Amino acid sequence: MRRALAIGLTAIAVLGGLWVSPILARQPYNGPLFDAHLHYNDEACVHDAPAPGCPHPLSDVLARMQRNGVQAIIANSRPNDGTKALAQAREQTRAAGVTVVPFIRLYRDRADYNNWFRDPSIAELVRTELTQGTPSGPYRGLGEFHLYDSANAQGAIARELMVLADQQDLAVLAHVDDVAVEQLLRHTPSQGRNTRLIWAHTGIGGTPVARVDELMARFPRLMGELSYRPGLTCDDGQLCPEWRALILKYPDRFMIGSDTWINQRWLYYDELMKAYRLWLGGLPPEVARQVAWNNGARLLGLPDPGP
Ligand SMILES: [Zn+2]
Repeated sequence: MRRALAIGLTAIAVLGGLWVSPILARQPYNGPLFDAHLHYNDEACVHDAPAPGCPHPLSDVLARMQRNGVQAIIANSRPNDGTKALAQAREQTRAAGVTVVPFIRLYRDRADYNNWFRDPSIAELVRTELTQGTPSGPYRGLGEFHLYDSANAQGAIARELMVLADQQDLAVLAHVDDVAVEQLLRHTPSQGRNTRLIWAHTGIGGTPVARVDELMARFPRLMGELSYRPGLTCDDGQLCPEWRALILKYPDRFMIGSDTWINQRWLYYDELMKAYRLWLGGLPPEVARQVAWNNGARLLGLPDPGP
C-alpha cells in the first residue's frame, strides 16, 4: 500500500517536472565532527597581546567550532602557546563542547620548517614539552611537521622522533609525500606496524589513489587526513568516484581536518566544514560517521558523544 503510494507520488513528481535526482536529495551529514588538523598559530592570536595582535581570540575560534558541530580537535600550533591556550581554557572549551587533543608542533617559527629534521634543539624542545604536558593533560602526538624533500626523512632528528613516537605511543601528524611515509615508518622499532601516523592531506602533491591504497594496505595503523587533497571531490561537491571507492574500502582509516595554517582558513571555517558535511552525506551513514568522528575518536581514545 505504502509502496504503491510512493510509486504513485514519484510518477506524479516526474510528470510534474519535480524529479529530484538521488544525489541532490542527499542530506548533508549532521553528526559530530573531529577536526584532525587544526592550528592556532600566532597569526591568529599572540596570546599575551590585545587586538590587533589577536584577531581570532579563543572565544572566536571556539564559536566557529561549536556552530559547526566540531566536538574534538587535534590542536597543534606555531608556537605551542596556541595549543596551550586552548588546553588551558577548560571552562570555555567545555562550554563549547570541544575536546582538545594536544600535539607538539616542532616549530618555534617559520625557519624551523626547513631544518627541524636535523636540528637537535627540536628534539630537545619535544622532550621538554613532553615532560611539561599541557593544562588539559599530556601531549598525545607529534606534528604537524613537513618534509618538502622526502630525502630529509633520513635526517637524524626525524629518525629519533619516529622512534620516540613508537616508544611513547604518540601519534604523528606528517605533511609528507608517499616516499617519506614509507621511510618514516621504517625508522620505527615496529617498522610502522604499531605507528599511528596521520598522513596530513593524504598526498598533497596528488599521490595516485592506487599508491595511497598500497600504503594503507601495507601499514595497518596509517591514517589519512583529507584537507587540501587534490582530486578528492568533483563538480557536485561529492567525492570523486575513485576516492569514494577508496574510503569505502578503508572506512576506518580516513579523517577530516581544517588545516587553519593561515587566518583565511579561520574566516572560511564554516564553508570548509559545510563542504565536508556535503560529501560525508553522500556516503552510507555509518561510513560518514566513521570518517567524521569515530576514526579520530578511536585513534585518540575519546568517548562517543552520541548523535
Ligand atoms: Zn597544517
